[in-house]
Amino acid sequence: MGQLVCTECQALYPLDEPVWRCDCGGILDIDFTPLFNLARIKRRRPTIWRYREAIPLDHDANIVSLDEGFTPLMEITIGGKTVFIKQDHLFPTGSYKDRGASVLVSKVKELGVTEVVEDSSGNAGSAIAAYCARASVKCHIYVPQNTSAGKLAQIQLYGAELHQVPGTREDTAQAALGAAEKRYYASHAWNPFFFQGTKTFAFEVSEQLGWKPPDTVILPVGNGTLLLGAYIGFRELLQAGVIDRMPRIIGVQAENCAPLYRAYQQNRAEVPPVENRETLAEGIAIARPVRGRQILDAIRQTKGQILAVSEDEIGKALGEICRQGYYIEPTSAATIAGIKEYLPGSSPGEVIVSVFTGHGLKATEKMLKLLP
Ligand SMILES: *Cc1c(COP(=O)(O)O)cnc(C)c1O
Ligand SMILES: [Zn+2]
Repeated sequence: MGQLVCTECQALYPLDEPVWRCDCGGILDIDFTPLFNLARIKRRRPTIWRYREAIPLDHDANIVSLDEGFTPLMEITIGGKTVFIKQDHLFPTGSYKDRGASVLVSKVKELGVTEVVEDSSGNAGSAIAAYCARASVKCHIYVPQNTSAGKLAQIQLYGAELHQVPGTREDTAQAALGAAEKRYYASHAWNPFFFQGTKTFAFEVSEQLGWKPPDTVILPVGNGTLLLGAYIGFRELLQAGVIDRMPRIIGVQAENCAPLYRAYQQNRAEVPPVENRETLAEGIAIARPVRGRQILDAIRQTKGQILAVSEDEIGKALGEICRQGYYIEPTSAATIAGIKEYLPGSSPGEVIVSVFTGHGLKATEKMLKLLP
């Protein structure tokens, strides 16, 4: 039925043990063989749980769901070219993090864990808080002091205990790690079950394209929860013979906090931390990505690349998308700026998929500052 595997020392743990990190301190991954019965999937309701046999949860009774997923894949014109954009800002909590939260909190329920800790720049915390509310699990969410007011309201209204930490995003991560000494860490960066949810992005995109992979996927990357999830998902579809090749995976970072971009440029295997300078793209401002090495591997194995975009480009991309009638948060606009950078070198007929990761209504005070 699968197991947890340490990426450092290869130690194994059963999936029903409440561990989120190896005893050696290493990151855990999940070794599990998913099944895809395309006819059965097609008959099911349009949520991430239509891929039930690809999600490592033992009992259906433990599923914690808000009917999330199967978001529209819309064709949008950017820079005169057509790109497919997955509308993941339309999730119940306003960001794609619900993919990971639904699966992770379902596992939390299955493990019998009753209290969890999570830290985030806002969206992952909102998602974990919402699903914990649904599952009656107590949760503590750690966020940096400067988190958007909309996300703070959301976290508290879902009933989570909010802990605002002075200093940088890294100080918040440190505070949560401390709290996780005694409690289960429902971390979107560390906990491998989160990625078992975000991988459904790849399943949905492939199904919506007629079970064909796109040529290129352009995704934001900070901790890589969507990027690594997509990589895992496409790889599982390839191994199951559902698709016949991997798409190229392109990651986009904000120049003001771009450790992965820098490590990629310098051709490194590991990711040295950088200084976290303020950026409009608060959601991907991760100076010390826990899974940095895995992200670089995924990019290299798919012959992708990492792009970095400036504050100016992010602000401009946000305005352009809003004037097409879409309302996304500034973090999501960084990806659009990355698409604009990538498109001139793309091939005619190249099928490109990208994403709106978060809803604009979450960041009203930051959106107001962008008005002339
Ligand atoms: C979490 C998030 C991302 C991606 O961040 P990762 O750190 O790579 O997981 C992108 N956009 C938004 C709006 C987010 O909330
Ligand atoms: Zn280990």
